[in-house]
Parts: sequence; C-alpha cells; structure tokens
Amino acid sequence: MKVLCFGSLNIDYTYRVPHFVQKGETIAAEDMKVFCGGKGFNQAVAFARAGAETCQAGAVGKDGLFLLDSLKAAGVNTEFVSVLEDQKTGCAIIQNDHSGDNCIMLYGGTNRAITREMADSVLEHFGQGDVLVLQNEINEIPYIMEKAHERGMKIVLNPSPMEEAIRNFPLEMVDYFFLNQVEACQLLDDENRENPEKQLEALRERFPAAAIVLTLGEKGSLYADGTQKHAQPAFRVKAVDTTAAGDTFTGFLMGGLLSGRTVPEAMELAAKASAIAVTRPGASPSIPTLEEVLGWQGQD
Ligand code: ADP
Repeated sequence: MKVLCFGSLNIDYTYRVPHFVQKGETIAAEDMKVFCGGKGFNQAVAFARAGAETCQAGAVGKDGLFLLDSLKAAGVNTEFVSVLEDQKTGCAIIQNDHSGDNCIMLYGGTNRAITREMADSVLEHFGQGDVLVLQNEINEIPYIMEKAHERGMKIVLNPSPMEEAIRNFPLEMVDYFFLNQVEACQLLDDENRENPEKQLEALRERFPAAAIVLTLGEKGSLYADGTQKHAQPAFRVKAVDTTAAGDTFTGFLMGGLLSGRTVPEAMELAAKASAIAVTRPGASPSIPTLEEVLGWQGQD
C-alpha cells in the first residue's frame, strides 16, 4: 500500500515589511526568507513523517529542484514529479507586517501545468488499495480522480482552497473528505456554521459513501462514516503558528488508519501531531515525526 500525494509544490518568498506595499510605492523589506511550500508539499511531508510509504506527484521548474531535495530528506519518493525545464515553479510572494497580518500573491506556475499524459504515466504505477491524496492547488483534478478511481485507489480530498468549481468535481468518488468549517459551508452552500454536528450530518447526507473529517481548530475535530462517529478534542498548547495544522492532521489521521489504528486511535494521534505543529513556527518544518508524537506527553 502506497500513498500518492498529487499536489502543489511551491516556493514561498516571505518578506517582513513595515506595512503592505501600496499602489505606486516602493518600500524596503526588513527581512526575506525562502521556504518550501504548497499544500501538496506539506501533506506529503506529513504522511511520510507519520510513517506512510509516500510518493509525491506534480511538477516543478528548474528553480524548484530544491523542493525535491527537501521532500527526499523527509522520506518522500519524488520520482513522479515532472521537471518542466522552461517553466517557473509555483510560488507565493508573502508580505508579513509588524502586526502579524499577511498578504499573499500566488502564482500557479508548474502547479497549473499538469497534463492528462502526466497523470496517466504517474497513475499506471498505482492500483487497488493505494491511496491518492488531493488538495485544490493543481489543475486536472477531476481527471486524476476519475483515473485513480478506475484503478481502485482510495481517494482523500482536502477541498482547499475551496472554490465553486470543486462542486463539479466527481465528488461521489471521494472516500475521505478532510475539511474545516469554512470549507464545509462552501461545499454545502450553506452559510450556517453554528453547529458542527449538523454540518457533519449534512456532509454525510450529501456524500454517503465517504468518511468525513471536520476539523474545528482549537476546538478539535469530528469524524463520521457509515458505521461510526467520533469526536476528538484538541490538545491544549500555546499556539505560535497554526500554518500546516490541517495538513499535519490529515497526514497523521490517514497514516494512523493505514497502519491499522482504529478511528479513535488515529484521531488522537493526529490531534497530538497537529498540537505539536502549532507550537512551532513555519509550515513543513513544524510537522513532527511519528516517534516524537508517540513520545509526547503534552506541553509543560
Ligand atoms: P485548517 O488549518 O485546515 O483550518 P484546523 O485549524 O481545523 O485546520 O486544525 C486542524 C487540527 O489541528 C485541529 O482539529 C486540532 O486538532 C489541531 N489544532 C489547530 N489549532 C490548534 C490549537 N490552537 N491548539 C491545539 N491544536 C490545534
């Protein structure tokens, strides 16, 4: 059983600025750092750190080869990532101001250059029982879902960033949805998010063949499938940076289930892993290893 994370690979250029740059203005940034990013990248790292045999598929330009080195260092197989010599890797230009707010400009680049031929040549290496993990930062997702489904793969979808077009994806093929309340509202086209239990029920009604995992930030998470329901509180920690909390949760919950844990066991593992992740700055560097999660006794 292998996990195929078919998703975005981004270069995040992060600038600390006194204020967001205005129309016609030029300002000096006070600091600049380059990070590996993209939801595909983060989730692949989370699955690998959770102990799953993980492959990444997607595309980068020559400028993004360092992303592959980072994935390999995290234990992810990168042989299914295409290198498109004449194109630019997807990237984000992020301004962080002194009050902790940010504004982001995203360029899809190679994440939006996925072809059906690429998808076919990746998917032919996967089959019955393998797991396809998707987010919504690459093109050709409906095609990838259909072909993976035909091959008997299980499909995990994190509909993020949420957009109208997702409702037209072949969602009946999804085996596991991972979403937060905002994404659930948009997917259901129902603004009411007072009651997460009701949202969970509505999602179950809409997608009866799928297991639903609804994450509620520091309030924890809910799980429901055709046979069981489970509520998992979040672990109490001092949050420093919640980036990648959801990605960590997805990797460890699925990683837990794939290694034979029960739903309550896997939910607890995922809640611990994501609690550790929020106590540290950054995205993928904040994702813990399985060993660390198993040894974690909570924050002092
Ligand atoms: P997303 O980042 O996708 O919106 P959430 O914010 O719902 O995802 O977080 C996913 C999971 O991470 C939660 O269910 C919870 O277990 C954990 N988590 C998130 N924020 C915190 C926090 N402040 N303290 C402890 N755990 C948290």
